Amino acid sequence: SLPLGMLDPDVAAAVDAELRRQQSTLEMIASENFAPAAVMEAQGSVLTNKYAEGYPGRRYYGGCEHVDVVEQLAVARVKELFGAEAANVQPHSGAQANAAAMFALLEPGDTILGLDLAHGGHLTHGMRINYSGKLYNVVPYHVRESDMRIDMDEVEQLALAHRPRMIVAGWSAYSRRLDFAAFRRIADAVGAYLLVDMAHFAGLVAAGLHPSPVPYADVVTTTTHKTLGGPRGGVILSRAGLAKKINSAVFPGQQGGPLEHVIAAKAVAFKVAAGEEFKERQRRTLDGARILAGRLLADDVAEAGITVLTGGTEVHLVLVDLRGSALDGRQAEDRLHRIGITVNRNAVPFDPRPPMVSSGLRIGTPALATRGFGEAEFREVADIIAEALKGEQPDDELRARVGKLAAAFPLYPHLNGDAA
Ligand code: PLP
Repeated sequence: SLPLGMLDPDVAAAVDAELRRQQSTLEMIASENFAPAAVMEAQGSVLTNKYAEGYPGRRYYGGCEHVDVVEQLAVARVKELFGAEAANVQPHSGAQANAAAMFALLEPGDTILGLDLAHGGHLTHGMRINYSGKLYNVVPYHVRESDMRIDMDEVEQLALAHRPRMIVAGWSAYSRRLDFAAFRRIADAVGAYLLVDMAHFAGLVAAGLHPSPVPYADVVTTTTHKTLGGPRGGVILSRAGLAKKINSAVFPGQQGGPLEHVIAAKAVAFKVAAGEEFKERQRRTLDGARILAGRLLADDVAEAGITVLTGGTEVHLVLVDLRGSALDGRQAEDRLHRIGITVNRNAVPFDPRPPMVSSGLRIGTPALATRGFGEAEFREVADIIAEALKGEQPDDELRARVGKLAAAFPLYPHLNGDAA
């Protein structure tokens, strides 16, 4: 019953240092967010102690009456939030949600179409050494070099030529909306399942600020920790007719005991996501990304050989194109890190530099929107990033501007007393 700081000062010190890092820097990794205190409270609860293999009302362990309540709440809320017929809230992560959805609907050796990793797809959409690339025959589709948008003509041609069993639509690094109706039409033309992985943009969908894939897809997977702002985890939504197969693919197909403490935290996050404040936050997320894209498209930045892929954004992130700049992705990531802004470098499609260096940055606004940033703050942070990438201003000055923004929007102030 000792508190963490006394039982394990080493771990406590690292946790505390991470809290300070999150508080004092500006988090702009597009896949990250800050979970509400109530979500973390649920996740840190006694539910972590409970085995609950199976599903509510049909468990393989006794004593599940309370975790049943929690899981039923999570399922009901996420179905309502996205208008889905069925939901499985047990996947431990986005990758496991995709693995289970594929396991449910495909046989090893079946053909799938997915967006190439180098063009913005995710590892689980068919990367060579991922399970998806090893188990299935993957045919990647791409963005067009002319406008860096997904080439639906190529998707159609590949589908007709290879007759996939599943088409995967979704992305980890893409700044435009997908044409779900076109994907559905192509899937129907070849008798394929359509899986939409909305991990990145699920929060925007929940807020009604991005088209929903649910009416079009057979299966929709998501993470719960990106724009959705909940605990780390995954969810599978589907048509009612596929629910049995999917449930059995998650457990016992892929996983043992569900993480009921995380499922409780998911339930809380879904409740938050149904509210007005969440919608307003997603609006600021989108505004922030548009403001950032606008600043990085200005003449002074273009003169440094830096631009924005697709010429803008319709989502919560901006993809910076450094192919024409002496500054590479790694240097740009390091420079922003030095002034207190956390982003990740990212290969851009048709990248001439090797993946570990790369010619791109992926910069997202969800975490700062959660922190409270509005138009004025996003203008300031966009200008700081532009100046940092141009490289003409001293780091000290930019770091001071970052520090001022961070100090004006305290993060998790209730945790400050917990210092080890
Ligand atoms: N799907 C997409 C589109 C993602 O971007 C990610 C994570 O980056 C995942 C799935 C995997 O999620 P997780 O990291 O929870 O396994």
